Amino acid sequence: MSTARYPENWKEIATAVKEASGWCCTKCGRVCLRPGEKPENWTLSQRKAYTLQVHHWNRDPSDNRWENLVSLCSSCHLDYHRFGQGNISPGQLSLFSEELARN
Ligand SMILES: [Zn+2]
Ligand SMILES: [Zn+2]
Repeated sequence: MSTARYPENWKEIATAVKEASGWCCTKCGRVCLRPGEKPENWTLSQRKAYTLQVHHWNRDPSDNRWENLVSLCSSCHLDYHRFGQGNISPGQLSLFSEELARN
């Protein structure tokens, strides 16, 4: 898997974006888990649903300008990639899973 388009400090950038949003989804306002928060008795899929992810508005992971980044919960993130502008090419789909893997 190629992660070359992500900057080395991607994790720090992503954390800063999430912190700035107050660990809430920018679209639906869902309050997501902070790092290290592991509620007991939560299933993996519950935890996944409450994991905040960072989305690139222009879908270019090499473009990490602050205004290009937004915090989304995993379901809103999926919506953006499913119903976002235009058709999703296979390339964009693999980009999406890359993004997931990095989150
Ligand atoms: Zn959301
Ligand atoms: Zn995205």
